[in-house]
Amino acid sequence: MTDKDKHTEFDYDVIVIGAGMSGLYQLCRLRQRNLRVRVFEAGTGVGGTWYWNRYPGARFDSESYSYGYSFSQELLDEWDWTEHFAPQPETERYLNYVADKFDLRRDIQFSARVTSAIFDEDRNCWDIGLEDGSHHRTRFLITAVGPLSAPTMPKFEGIKDFQGESYHTGLWPKTPVDYAGKRVAVIGTGATGVQTIQEVAKTVGHLTVFQRRPNWCKPLRNKPISKAEMAEIRKDYPNIFKRCQESLSCFMHSPDPRKAMDVSEAEREAFWEQQYAEPGFSMWIGNFSDILMDREANRLVSDFVARKIRERVDDPETAELLIPTDHGFGTRRVPQETFYYEAYNQPNVDLVSILKTPIERITPTGIQTSDRHCEFDIIIYATGFDAITGSFDRIDLRGVGGESLKEKWRRALETYLGVQVAGFPNMFMLMGPHTALGNIPRSIEYNVDWVTDLIDHMRENGLTRSEPPQASVDAWTDYVIETSEGLLTNEIDSWMTGINWNVEGKQKRIVARFAGSAPYYRSRCDEVAAAGYTELMLS
Ligand code: NAP
Repeated sequence: MTDKDKHTEFDYDVIVIGAGMSGLYQLCRLRQRNLRVRVFEAGTGVGGTWYWNRYPGARFDSESYSYGYSFSQELLDEWDWTEHFAPQPETERYLNYVADKFDLRRDIQFSARVTSAIFDEDRNCWDIGLEDGSHHRTRFLITAVGPLSAPTMPKFEGIKDFQGESYHTGLWPKTPVDYAGKRVAVIGTGATGVQTIQEVAKTVGHLTVFQRRPNWCKPLRNKPISKAEMAEIRKDYPNIFKRCQESLSCFMHSPDPRKAMDVSEAEREAFWEQQYAEPGFSMWIGNFSDILMDREANRLVSDFVARKIRERVDDPETAELLIPTDHGFGTRRVPQETFYYEAYNQPNVDLVSILKTPIERITPTGIQTSDRHCEFDIIIYATGFDAITGSFDRIDLRGVGGESLKEKWRRALETYLGVQVAGFPNMFMLMGPHTALGNIPRSIEYNVDWVTDLIDHMRENGLTRSEPPQASVDAWTDYVIETSEGLLTNEIDSWMTGINWNVEGKQKRIVARFAGSAPYYRSRCDEVAAAGYTELMLS
């Protein structure tokens, strides 16, 4: 069989897994290239994160206009954001608008969950298996599976016995859930739990929050966007995207170059007051440059936020329960809130610390802790995700010689630029481990463009296989580990350090994401492309 014959055996040139923000943009870019592309999407609609996470109160934590795609001037001209931090239904509408505008649906197969991806060495192609038993061959495999898309449930006994309604926030149903007037439990107080709690508290009969470790939250300060304001934002788009490109993590906020101790106590307090009053992540991303490196600086800012919590929560005991004691401000992802702390002042909202009184089991009617039984109509699990590598682990992904990616990464998480893995030729990851995450769509656009350029380069030069040599993988992985050193974030258990006690084998901290700057990441990738991808084995 000639190479040509082998090629025509493939069903597609490229298969993309996932029709979220990265999969949609990847499809747009490949569309212009006369390639046979198929996107397999497990959901029934586009949107990924913004399709699945339709829980009460779900919304952006990044400014809407910094989060939307920047690649199409027409799209920027046509789409009006209505809130500075858009709610999930608006974002889902936006992504549907994008899918329609660029006529993307004809290449997307919905309700198509990929269960396996096996590299066929003989044919130099990938065999993609779906849940329905079908198989599809492709030259290139692009994973657009998202870093936070594999929901995890706690391992409490009796979960299945509960006779009321129960939902994981990341698998929220499309049909409305009526919690008004009902007895509701929320388990989990990460960014998702916080958004859910403050929304449900508005109409619930009685809400009980089961908190393991509290997080440091900061006011979101959302506002509607008027037509006139949107016109101003539109004019400012070039500047907005420039700010994002120049910032360390692609947000509109950049650290203040000063160190916390460079200024007087009065100036520090005034600066933090101003940041606490500002919308968005300014206090996390735009703070003094050393708050995530210097323990004393971090202690001071944590004390400031603790004082705010004490001011806002009426009951001193509840306030103390809401103040983290095991980590400093910003060392885990900072949830943004709107009257979250005030919800605990409502007579119908209770906080249960399950560090003090652990959940023993879920019963048919509610939750049994070590000191009481509470009855509920609805239990909401806001218990997070098997992050970064979890959505890869859920696919039986096998490279050269049948090597399992899951097993390989359990031994050691290694990538080349977060895009390729040794032994997994022609598999390109969008927002994979070891890439710069931050304000994700900005990183997605770069990642997709880079992968598309590499595919172009291969086609122009008659190349059919791309794989990183171990030396390139080692150099990038070592660099990723090196840049994480000295960061307080890496001394803390969180999804960002690969910890998930609900998932077997994920109890040891790892360096799962690139903690260096996004501009550096881009310059490094640009350099590789400019040099003709010589760090890869192309054949
Ligand atoms: P998360 O931050 O991992 O929080 C999960 C919560 O569930 C934590 O409070 C955790 O407690 C608790 N939990 C997990 N297993 C438990 C168990 N067995 N028993 C009791 N409690 C348990 O997950 P998330 O809130 O879904 O957020 C994940 C990420 O998604 C965020 O950090 C953010 O990056 C992203 N997100 C973004 C937005 C946005 O931009 N608008 C909104 C929501 C989420 P411990 O802390 O003790 O582990």
